[in-house]
Amino acid sequence: MKFYVLTLFPDMILRGLNTSILGRAAEKKIISIDAVNIRDYTADRHGKADDYPYGGGAGMLIQAQPVYDAHKAVTGGRKLRTIYVTPQGVPFTQKIAQELSRLEELVFLCGHYEGIDQRVLEEVATDYISIGDYVLTGGELPAMVMIDAISRLVPGVLHNDSSSESESFFNDLLEYPQYSRPRVWHGREVPAVLLLGDHKKIAEWRRERSEEFTKSRRPDLYKEYIRKEELIRWLSREKREKIHMIESLRRGKAEILYADRGNVLLYDRTSRLCMISAQNAETGERLLEKVPKDASLFVTSQDFLNEPICNRFSCEIFHECIQVCYPQKQALPVKYKDIRLLGEEFIPYVRERYHMGDSEYVAERIRAGAMYGAFCDEKPVGFIGIHNDGSLGMLFVEETHRRKGLGISLESYAINRICEKGWTPYGHVVTGNETSLGLQERLGLYPSSGTIWWLGKKD
Ligand code: SAM
Repeated sequence: MKFYVLTLFPDMILRGLNTSILGRAAEKKIISIDAVNIRDYTADRHGKADDYPYGGGAGMLIQAQPVYDAHKAVTGGRKLRTIYVTPQGVPFTQKIAQELSRLEELVFLCGHYEGIDQRVLEEVATDYISIGDYVLTGGELPAMVMIDAISRLVPGVLHNDSSSESESFFNDLLEYPQYSRPRVWHGREVPAVLLLGDHKKIAEWRRERSEEFTKSRRPDLYKEYIRKEELIRWLSREKREKIHMIESLRRGKAEILYADRGNVLLYDRTSRLCMISAQNAETGERLLEKVPKDASLFVTSQDFLNEPICNRFSCEIFHECIQVCYPQKQALPVKYKDIRLLGEEFIPYVRERYHMGDSEYVAERIRAGAMYGAFCDEKPVGFIGIHNDGSLGMLFVEETHRRKGLGISLESYAINRICEKGWTPYGHVVTGNETSLGLQERLGLYPSSGTIWWLGKKD
């Protein structure tokens, strides 16, 4: 991901973001940060980029011309998301960070002194974002704060995408307390449950502490968390039909845009995916009014939603699918021994064999630590992955290794990894693909009785 920062103090940005995790991510070219000096673009002979505000008042303003020209130089006329960091913007949150982390390029515009001439903001800024209700001397620290929060969500920056899964704000909870050596410090013991190695008990203890912390420190978040838990409980009455919604909520991917029992609208910002279930066509229409503008994929639970979505959002139906899920907790046997997480060096290999619309998708999945490969004599012979909506898929086995149970081993391996996180593995089988359905049933996955539909924007 490329960040451009338009600022009067580029050194501040580069010095601030060049170390530790972000420094390494920049070295590996997963992110790049280009700090552009607005002053370099001024038309003023003396290099001035600021002037007094009309109408009087304290301080100076950055002028429109140098900002406009610096922006133009960076974007080359392309329409890039451009964030003006300002105390007058919407408060920055983890959800916004998640949404922005899927962009390839992002421009930050930093004010200084009293700010920036309004006219250029109206021409170049697409978003106004604040880091809190206080006033700083300049936009450099806010831009750095946002770049840091966004970058660590870019696949590959934290090595695997599970690192942020236990952190604060994931699933509307604050993180549980943590302890390191020594076991006793100042007479205080580390909680005994953490020393016994029982992962289920540890997970339960952590969940309870997270709930406690959130309830007392952030009652606003806790309210959201409870709302989500209630919806999950309600959806679980039809678990196989609604597994995609349940898992999206549980894995902290989707937010609730609307839920009144039979009518549910969820949105996964990162994959721009809307999941919709409605009681009838009329309530369905009302849900569609709440769909975010940037939504590009839809999963519907009722046929009557499809035509209105196609018309309203210029979409087409991609597939009708049966959902399959693995509700058991016990691990599956994996016969084939050499299966492991795929590293970046296998991006070209997978890309050549798996095609899904966007060519960046495979790279993003591998960087997210969501693809596993089977190896024979150190050469890859097959792979499987977890899609960015959370479903299992992308199964491929080389011709030379087919009909030997390798597909079953790969899928069992991926199922076990998902179960380890306390989630329910699930997948989507295109209706009519009896071979795939047979494979899923042999593995112990249960099919839904109804179907869902995948819809997406026409190219
Ligand atoms: N006169 C402005 C106002 O009252 O809204 C404040 C200007 S402030 C001194 C200078 C610059 O710092 C702003 O243009 C903005 O880019 C940045 N800034 C200050 N506080 C910020 C905050 N809380 N969030 C984001 N940016 C901030």
